[in-house]
Amino acid sequence: MQTKETKGLVLYSRNYREDDKLVKIFTETDGKRMFFIRHAGQSKITSVIQPLTAADFIVKINDKGLSYIGDYKEAEFYKTVNEDLFILAYASYVAALADAAIADNTADPQLFTFLKKTLELMDKGLDYEILTNIFELQVLERFGVGLNFHECTFCHRVGLPFDFSYKFSGLLCPDHYIEDVHRKHLDPNVIYLLDRFQNVSFEELQSISVKPAMKQQIRQFLDDIYDNYVGIHLKSKKFIDNLDKWGGVMRNKP
Ligand SMILES: [Zn+2]
Repeated sequence: MQTKETKGLVLYSRNYREDDKLVKIFTETDGKRMFFIRHAGQSKITSVIQPLTAADFIVKINDKGLSYIGDYKEAEFYKTVNEDLFILAYASYVAALADAAIADNTADPQLFTFLKKTLELMDKGLDYEILTNIFELQVLERFGVGLNFHECTFCHRVGLPFDFSYKFSGLLCPDHYIEDVHRKHLDPNVIYLLDRFQNVSFEELQSISVKPAMKQQIRQFLDDIYDNYVGIHLKSKKFIDNLDKWGGVMRNKP
């Protein structure tokens, strides 16, 4: 086993035997790995193995079984995320999505950086629903789903009031709406925003602001896309769906 230092993000941890823990960490250099922590109760590592903690870990990577953490430095705790039930729910969902999107033990530093940046921006107070939408859209490729929200499937023109067609797995411009009578009949602004989200840079994010009614339409369409093309059912997503129902009740109080 080789010892090395890598950035990592804790996805989840669970108790194992009396005082040991199994911790799943998304490492930058070696992908998602399961780590074994002996006597977790007395270990100095305990403070950094809570879910959604990022740190530089000193690890021993074992390709044929459990890996080990020797030490850590520079932990980040995402205080704002952890103090707000709503943000925490969305942050947990994007982490679960990243976990579902790629195989274990396979390095994907790009996805690692993207996930970590998403959590950092949630922690800074940027719109967590929009950040989640952007993550959901950009991670689609990892599920093998390549959808183009930029141009008409037929004539490849851009910048028009597009609709989405499941029949063609792509956009239809007004001239080609007729190709699919069962087209989605979306508000064209939904597609416009998804196109922006698919290509957005983190620097531009501050300038994106979306009204609640539009957010809801985007949410519904992305759920539809995930049902049709990805077909995973994450507990953390179900939790958000329920939370939104209850949150709505709370927000609508006179
Ligand atoms: Zn067209």
